[in-house]
Amino acid sequence: MPVVDFILYSLILLLQLMETDMTNKQRQLWEERHNKLTVHCLACDDIFQEAVPSIQACPHCNNDDMQQTVYLQSEETSHD
Ligand SMILES: [Zn+2]
Repeated sequence: MPVVDFILYSLILLLQLMETDMTNKQRQLWEERHNKLTVHCLACDDIFQEAVPSIQACPHCNNDDMQQTVYLQSEETSHD
C-alpha cells in the first residue's frame, strides 16, 4: 500500500525537522553559554572557564571525564 510509504515518509521528514530544530537550539544554547560557563573539575578541585566548547578537558590535570566535572552557575544560587 502506498499509504504506508507516505506515512513513513512524513514521519521521517518530521523527525528530521525535529532533530534539526533541536540541534539548532542546542547550538544556540552552547553559543550563549560557552563564554560564561565555569567548570569545576572534581579530579583536581580546580575551577576553569570553558571558553571553547570543543575543549572539554581540565587545563590543570587534563581530566576529560565529564562525570568528573561540574558546571557552576552564577545564577540561581538560592538553592539550599
Ligand atoms: Zn582538573
